Amino acid sequence: MSATRGTRVLVLNSGSSSVKYQLLDMRDSSRLAVGLVERIGEETSRLKHTHVDSGATREWTGPIPDHEAALKAVSEELAKDGLGLDSPELAAIGHRVVHGGQSFTAPTVVDDAVLAEIERLIPVAPLHNPANLTGIRTAQALRPDLPQVAVFDTAFHTTMPESAARYAIDVATADEHRIRRYGFHGTSHAYVARATAELLGKDPSETNVIVLHLGNGASASAVRSGECVDTSMGLTPLEGLVMGTRSGDMDPAVIFHLARVGGMSIDEIDNLLNKKSGLIGLCGDNDMREIRRRVDEGDEQAELAFEIYIHRLKKYIGAYYAVLGTVDAIAFTAGVGENAASVREAAVAGLETLGLAVDGDLNAVRSDEPRLISPSDARVKVAVVPTDEELEIATQTYGLVRKGD
Ligand code: ADP
Repeated sequence: MSATRGTRVLVLNSGSSSVKYQLLDMRDSSRLAVGLVERIGEETSRLKHTHVDSGATREWTGPIPDHEAALKAVSEELAKDGLGLDSPELAAIGHRVVHGGQSFTAPTVVDDAVLAEIERLIPVAPLHNPANLTGIRTAQALRPDLPQVAVFDTAFHTTMPESAARYAIDVATADEHRIRRYGFHGTSHAYVARATAELLGKDPSETNVIVLHLGNGASASAVRSGECVDTSMGLTPLEGLVMGTRSGDMDPAVIFHLARVGGMSIDEIDNLLNKKSGLIGLCGDNDMREIRRRVDEGDEQAELAFEIYIHRLKKYIGAYYAVLGTVDAIAFTAGVGENAASVREAAVAGLETLGLAVDGDLNAVRSDEPRLISPSDARVKVAVVPTDEELEIATQTYGLVRKGD
């Protein structure tokens, strides 16, 4: 690895038709530029770029045929702000990679063997890993001299014991097809668990936290002494909580039933459970703001959807409380967790005997800062901790390349 003198890290999150990016200066973890390219491959691709210092935003619509063109366009936008990718200030590029399987337990500098392994994992992450790979290869072509670091969504969960990671199915079949619970959103869970410990003034290695990442996708994790011991997503992000469009947990026999009795194909069932279930399947909306508005108007369908969402959440809080034995805090994060006071209140309602409660006034406060919303004498703290996956990717990336110097 080449020695790094720069202090900037470019974070890339490459999806199948989009690239989100942030350039950070790791001396003070500040953002220099943020932006995204979407609808790659269409005539109406869109690039939105913000230079943070000046607040200036530039938007551009036109055809961007592929990821290579997208990254070149990003590079040009950064150069206009004096932040070009050719700058010696750039220390590394950190890539979000969704699935690292059991192979990657930590951020990893990309080489040919790493690329091959990410490729080998495509069958367990067919939607995400190919796009992540394209992003890495494109960035490599642009700056072949620079360390490219892969930061895996699954890595934080690789500390799960076998008792939590294995499904109770035939071991040989599971091993042959690499079927186990990998978990996702790990970068967020890692960041929030650590930030929650800091908020409590405790060392992460001495803190037990239940993290509830409630965005459009949603997952819970049980973190003991800074390490993940269980998480709600599994082989894929379909397992666990009720999500915006995913069902989360259900009897797997529903799938056989839909195929045998409903005459649906595997692809149709896959689409139903991932895209047309969860909140949107239950009430036609997946945005919690809209669901709450409908609940306030007395809409019974929205109310039932909300109750099912909360019931599942509460089950996971109880389950992870039991897994951990001792819980220091429950932390709410991501779009719903950070913003929906009604969800936070309902999720812990009635759990006073577990030492859990929310203070109505504190819960109503809107803020971008990590904060406690439990009464001051609460045995178990309830926290709202805004997640920052890009900062976590940049921190892990920078930490790794500095270590290599
Ligand atoms: P993802 O990254 O999974 O797309 P986010 O973490 O950005 O999701 O969360 C998006 C969700 O957050 C939206 O679908 C919406 O339901 C919810 N959300 C955002 N703002 C609010 C708010 N003020 N009140 C309630 N829910 C909100």
